Amino acid sequence: MNNKVIYLDNNSTTPLHPEVLETMLPYLKERYGNASSIHFKGREAKKGLEESRAILGDALGTESVDIIFTSGGTESDNFAIKGVAFANKDKGNHIITSSVEHLAVGATCKYLESHGFKITYLPVDKYGAVDLKALKEAITPKTILVSIMHANNEVGTIEPIKEISGIVKAKGIYFHTDAVQSFGKIPVDVEDLGVDLLSLSAHKINGPKGVGLLYIRKGVKIDPVNHGGHHERSLRAGTENVPGIVGFAKAAQIAKRHMKEEPERLRKLRNMLQKGLTDRLDGVHLNGHPTERLPGTLNLSFQGVEGESLLINFDLKGICGSTGSACTAGSNEPSHVLVAMKADPQLAQGSVRFSLGTFNTEEEITYCMEEIPKIVKRLRDISPFKK
Ligand SMILES: *Cc1c(COP(=O)(O)O)cnc(C)c1O
Repeated sequence: MNNKVIYLDNNSTTPLHPEVLETMLPYLKERYGNASSIHFKGREAKKGLEESRAILGDALGTESVDIIFTSGGTESDNFAIKGVAFANKDKGNHIITSSVEHLAVGATCKYLESHGFKITYLPVDKYGAVDLKALKEAITPKTILVSIMHANNEVGTIEPIKEISGIVKAKGIYFHTDAVQSFGKIPVDVEDLGVDLLSLSAHKINGPKGVGLLYIRKGVKIDPVNHGGHHERSLRAGTENVPGIVGFAKAAQIAKRHMKEEPERLRKLRNMLQKGLTDRLDGVHLNGHPTERLPGTLNLSFQGVEGESLLINFDLKGICGSTGSACTAGSNEPSHVLVAMKADPQLAQGSVRFSLGTFNTEEEITYCMEEIPKIVKRLRDISPFKK
């Protein structure tokens, strides 16, 4: 067991599904055409592109024309926020987001502040759920966009998107959600959620890296962020990543096929790990909502130990976890999500995220339940925090 890696970092990225690879291979080999070319090779690529668009449109409960392919979740978030901000600046300069967003949203909003936009970062409760009263109070006649994530990547908390969209849409304001973590794990339907813009990424659902999409409801006024040729209805210039897009659609189909049993399987394994660790150790705190949470996400704080030291020691035992988000790893700052949730600063330093995925097994979780408590106990014994 020791020479095998137990990958519990699926919120950072996931392994490529073998079926996805099989679907991509012909597009990396013989179907190499540019989807904009009019000859046979171009039409072959175009067919793969448009079939994928239809599959993803269907998965989101919308028509394929509303789907614009991008290079991933980060680009989709940038596109949605900057694109709507610049296209609607004659109407107002106020944008509302939350204090627990992924950096792809948070840093984009920060950037817009330097371009004359005013941003409200909504507070969250102790579970990381957005304060709806604060949202209602934050809306002004100058508000042009609200962007709140569907599910949090660090703690897994699922935001009340339907209620949020109800409040926002009643005021005639555009609503964007980053659904990168929720898609493929819980139902994501643009009509049901009532969103105008929605970001997805392929590599979080066993698809390839470097491909994503932005759903844009018909009629939404948005500027392109990538300027150039007439690809993607002139909204996103650049030759489409056809192999990636075909793989993305396949990954979405596989997720849909297993929607009945896979989230439940992950929830069981996740709960088994949670119970296993809290039964065997004192001073273990759950970060995130106890129930309104992604099925595979488990963010725990271990009292009296640093998250970074835990991860290094887990790694020696072949267990891959993470502290907070992969994008902020190495920064040594406490997670902005845990800070916004007003977590005890010392506990925030001792937080570790386990995120389960398609290829995790019960045997792996059992191994973690045995090894992790030994590591935590050893580190606590030598900890300078020890009383
Ligand atoms: C991973 C992630 C992103 C970024 O997606 P990339 O495809 O890696 O650029 C954005 N938002 C959330 C919530 C994520 O988890």
